[in-house]
Amino acid sequence: MGKTFFIDTTRCTACRGCQVACKEWKLLPATETKQQGSHQNPPDLNGSTLKVVRFHEYKTEAGKVVWNFFSDQCRHCLEPPCKDMANEYVKDAVVTDKKTGAVIYTEATKSLSKEAFEGMRESCPYNIPRRDEKTGLVMKCDMCYDRVNAGLLPMCVKACPTKAMNFGDRDEMLKLAEQRLTVVKKEYPEAQLVDADFVNVIYLISDKPERYHTAMVGEDAFRMTRKTALARLLSPVNVFQNII
Ligand code: SF4
Ligand code: SF4
Repeated sequence: MGKTFFIDTTRCTACRGCQVACKEWKLLPATETKQQGSHQNPPDLNGSTLKVVRFHEYKTEAGKVVWNFFSDQCRHCLEPPCKDMANEYVKDAVVTDKKTGAVIYTEATKSLSKEAFEGMRESCPYNIPRRDEKTGLVMKCDMCYDRVNAGLLPMCVKACPTKAMNFGDRDEMLKLAEQRLTVVKKEYPEAQLVDADFVNVIYLISDKPERYHTAMVGEDAFRMTRKTALARLLSPVNVFQNII
């Protein structure tokens, strides 16, 4: 059975322990940044930042300040569009680890042209792939599949002090997610599990998705991808090409 993260944002205190633990395990350098009016640091994912805690602050009509956090990373999609796109250009640039379901970018991503990389990045419903300009590798979270295959937790999950980050067999995580949703919904009626049918990183959020991040939800993109794939399959041109 594949593995799944359940990330309960209602328990996240934005300590960034997960973000730092990821860098330490992956031996990735810190990113130099400037203060840009937010506690979020660095301001975005990049070639050496595979996990970033995003901050979003707003004022309600009643004047109450709300501060939402979430720990952003690759969602390890069940049918990853980035894999389809990248492998169109370079064979095995992206592979899926059978045991865990981890979506992994390989050394072959170095051979992706600028145009191919841009297509790959655009295909991701969550805007995750980034290129390390020094090495040419395309980078993102790999589920710490080396640790997981050795019976250990992903480093970010291990480091989380509040149980916001959870990891295990998919059915167990789905069960935990549903249980927490029931509890959280009592206080926050807008609470939801984001894209649970499509991904192996399931977020529980208590507010509207756009009040976390523009790419919080990817469901429509998945539907579009499937619709496009189906349209291609059914198009007379493709039928003709298949016969040839
Ligand atoms: S699973 Fe590993 S690579 Fe992915 S965000 Fe967590 S620590 Fe980083
Ligand atoms: S979230 Fe984006 S980068 Fe991660 S597997 Fe899905 S499409 Fe690929």
